[in-house]
Amino acid sequence: MTQAILSFDVDAESPVLVEGRRHADNAGLMSHQAYGPLVGVPRILALLAEYDLPATFFVPGLTADRYPQTVERILEAGHEVAHHSYAHFSPIDQDEAAERSDFERALEALERRGVRPEGFRCPSWEPTWFTPELVAEHGLAYDSSLMDDDRPYLLQTKHGDLVELPVHWSLDDWAQYAYMPRPPFKSSIESPAKVLDLWTSELDAMRRHGSLFVLTCHPFLSGRPHRVEVLRALIEHALAAADVEFVSCREAAHRARADAGLTRRRLEPVVVDGAIYPEL
Ligand SMILES: [Zn+2]
Repeated sequence: MTQAILSFDVDAESPVLVEGRRHADNAGLMSHQAYGPLVGVPRILALLAEYDLPATFFVPGLTADRYPQTVERILEAGHEVAHHSYAHFSPIDQDEAAERSDFERALEALERRGVRPEGFRCPSWEPTWFTPELVAEHGLAYDSSLMDDDRPYLLQTKHGDLVELPVHWSLDDWAQYAYMPRPPFKSSIESPAKVLDLWTSELDAMRRHGSLFVLTCHPFLSGRPHRVEVLRALIEHALAAADVEFVSCREAAHRARADAGLTRRRLEPVVVDGAIYPEL
C-alpha cells in the first residue's frame, strides 16, 4: 500500500505579514488571506468528511489566536493539528534566539486550543541546520520540511530522532495558484486540469516507486471551489487505485518509527569555502 497524506497549512495572514507590517493596512489582501480559515477550511473539512479521510492541518500560532473557532472545527472533525511556527518567519531569516522564541510562542498558542502537537512543518520549508534540533528538543515526534528523500526516514539529532516526512514543491498548491500583486507572489493561476494531472501523475509514479505522497495545500488557495474539486478528483483517483491509503502525518510518523529497517540520516551542514563562493 502507498501512504498518502493530505496536509493543509492554514497560513491565513501570516506569510504576507512576514513581507512587511504595512500589508496589514491592505484590507483587500487581508480578506484574501482570511478566506482560508473562514471558507476554505470548512469546505475542505466537508470534503474530507464525505470520504471519511484523515488529514493534518499545520496551523501557525497567529492563525490559532485569530481564528480559534477554525481550530476547534478541525479538532472536532477528528483531524490532527500540528506546529507551523507562530508568525511564519523562515528560520533562515532569524537567529537562534528568535527562532526558539517564536517556536515556543506557537506551542503556547496551540496549548490554549488544547493542542499538544506531535509534528512540525517549517515555514516556507526554509529550516536552518539547527531547526530539527529545536523540534526534537521540544519533544515533537516528526518534521515535514525537508526534500532529501521521498520516503520517510529517521532524522538523528542531539535530542533524539525525528521521523522526517519529506515534501516537495511539485506537491504544493502554492506554486500552482499563489497569485497576488502585493506582496508580489506571482505564481501563475493554473488550470485545475493541469494541477490534477501533475498531482495524479506524481501519485501514480510514487505508487510504483514506494514513495510517501505528501500533498501540501493552503486553504486560502485550495479552498476555492474549482480547486476543491481538484482535491476531490485526486481523492477519487487514489481510492480507485485501491492500493493507496490516506493517513495523517502523525499516523505516517508512528508507522515509520515502528519500521526497524527505516533509513537513518543525520543533517550534515554544508560548509563552503568563502574564497570559492563569496557572499554576493
Ligand atoms: Zn505556511
